[in-house]
Amino acid sequence: MADRIELPMINLCPTMRCNLSCKLCGVLVPHYSCRPHMSLAEFADTLRAVFEIADHVGKLQITGGEPFLHRELPEMIDECFKHSGNFDRLWLFTNCAVPPAPRLIGALRGHKSKVLVHCSDYGAKPEVASMLLAALSENGIEYRYQKYYGEDQYYGGWVDQGDFVPHGRAEAELRDVFARCSHVRRGGSWYARGGQMHWCGRSARGCEVGKVPLRAEDSLDMLAGSADERRARLRELMRAEYILACDYCNGLYGSEDGGARRPAGEQMAGAQSGEAQAASAQMPVEQAAGEQTVGGQMA
Ligand code: SF4
Repeated sequence: MADRIELPMINLCPTMRCNLSCKLCGVLVPHYSCRPHMSLAEFADTLRAVFEIADHVGKLQITGGEPFLHRELPEMIDECFKHSGNFDRLWLFTNCAVPPAPRLIGALRGHKSKVLVHCSDYGAKPEVASMLLAALSENGIEYRYQKYYGEDQYYGGWVDQGDFVPHGRAEAELRDVFARCSHVRRGGSWYARGGQMHWCGRSARGCEVGKVPLRAEDSLDMLAGSADERRARLRELMRAEYILACDYCNGLYGSEDGGARRPAGEQMAGAQSGEAQAASAQMPVEQAAGEQTVGGQMA
């Protein structure tokens, strides 16, 4: 069908809370106290809104924040598979520093033909990382492991995308940054959160924390107007030549051009510990009161 809308990837973030405080976090999670945490109903509504306007998505990604901190992640995975015919693969990201609940392993096992768990290991909790990989292997759940600590970090580490300080780029330069961005060259690393859809996490997060001015033409209101109107608006957004967030970003030239790499996962000095952050946010980290644990995992 000629008017089909196909997106290579869309990111859903059940929570922006995290138990690590990485200095170079691409979406600057630890730098701002704004950490939206979706309810299951909001997650389901977001999924429905996505698939009302996109006919097909290559990779449906669950990222964050640290998704494993969300108690309702197993139910959210089941929600995703209500739309199974509309996406190729579900990718679930984790920092390998939160033990997976047996319920989560069960949900992943139930959909394992279309699931991949992306394990980014920052060396924060080696025993948890080992337990996670063992649980995935034992249950036949496919995973991708990337080592981001010590020597030989995956792809030499992370790219520094910078904070949200404006560069004052002229329009031609913004077009160039946008055109060269690896996210854009892949057809978009779309983010759907808070009723808005953005080209990339930098744009979504920058607008969310009020550091990037929210221009109507840079995002899609996923809840306003008819489905046809939203689809027309998405097509328009897909034709963008740049977005304002590109002025507030170092540009992500990505792995294709070998942008300068820095050690990944370096923790912010004086940052509140992940456990303390989770506790202050009333979040479970490893073991919430009343939850059964098996081999140290959250039930
Ligand atoms: S803000 Fe622009 S350059 Fe930065 S990641 Fe997003 S699209 Fe790419």
